[in-house]
Amino acid sequence: MQNADPAPLLQLQQLTKRYRAEDAAAVQDVSFDLHEGEILALLGPSGCGKTTTLRMIAGFETPDAGDVLIHGRSVLELAPRDRHIGVVFQDYALFPHLNLLRNVMFGMQQVPRAQRAERAREWLQLVGLATFAERMPDELSGGQQQRAALARTLAAEPRLVLLDEPFSNLDAALRESTRIEVRQLLKKAGTTAILVTHDQAEALSFADRVGVMQAGRLCQTGTPETVYHVPETAFVAEFLGHTNLLPCLAQGRQAQSPLGEINLSTEAQGEVMVSLRPEHLSLEASPASDANCEVISREFRGHDNFYRVQTAGTTPAEYKVLAPYDCVLPAGAPARLTPRQPGVILRG
Ligand code: ADP
Ligand code: MG
Repeated sequence: MQNADPAPLLQLQQLTKRYRAEDAAAVQDVSFDLHEGEILALLGPSGCGKTTTLRMIAGFETPDAGDVLIHGRSVLELAPRDRHIGVVFQDYALFPHLNLLRNVMFGMQQVPRAQRAERAREWLQLVGLATFAERMPDELSGGQQQRAALARTLAAEPRLVLLDEPFSNLDAALRESTRIEVRQLLKKAGTTAILVTHDQAEALSFADRVGVMQAGRLCQTGTPETVYHVPETAFVAEFLGHTNLLPCLAQGRQAQSPLGEINLSTEAQGEVMVSLRPEHLSLEASPASDANCEVISREFRGHDNFYRVQTAGTTPAEYKVLAPYDCVLPAGAPARLTPRQPGVILRG
């Protein structure tokens, strides 16, 4: 009989790590499942415990509490090399004295010696570096080194790949193209992976699921669309992009807000905090008699205009609005600000 729901490839169960007794926990009660072929991004600000979480999965750090299971079995007793997990760090970590081919062959202990060179060339081909096989690492660009490091990691055929801020040393244009290529590569190879990053755009575009971390805890996990559109807390809402936080008085799917009556995405009663993203508000020029706000500033961003506007006598007094490229209002102009999507209720 076929098992419809096999054990996840990786399970973290209330993983906790404290480096020093007097410090707050670096990682606290982190739990999640990762299924075969899935890409998860762990997203959060610097110091929130992302790297520590990866290091515990890889076996470089021992948790104080909790468990790491692979295919339903604890791996805590296993040394890093026996976990069959590949790790790619920010600083590439290629061997400087070996050419690319030798670098890739290095991890291929599972492949018979006689076949390693040929297989290594195939991996280099896959990351678009076949013609660079004889080059030394310092003869490559940052993006090429990063792809070579990935080829070396994938060539070892790990059952899980951990990527710790692998694109952060690349300049902006290269970062975007490299992350697209790397995602395609992982998907083509069916590799299960965890990407650690503090860059929300990177997490949203790279991963199948995003886990947002704050101060050692995993505060929300979901598809990129869910964590962006339905944040559960103000922290998640603000970390994933700009937002406006409105104190409201809810009655079912409606609420009294500082901007008048608004719809809510879920039912609630009483005082609630609501998130409305800048693209969920619209802004129009308006005669002063009908205006409910005044433009503070406009930032032209090519395909859109990012506004800050202020309202009189409400809290908050300032709102961020994303308007189309052709909505051009000068600072000081009276305008009409209208919510055009239901607000999302935040907790705590
Ligand atoms: P991130 O990768 O999200 O930036 P880290 O996991 O590196 O976060 O760090 C989480 C917390 O643990 C931080 O407060 C950091 O200062 C602390 N920390 C990390 N590594 C060590 C260590 N080896 N010794 C003591 N404290 C550490
Ligand atoms: Mg880190």
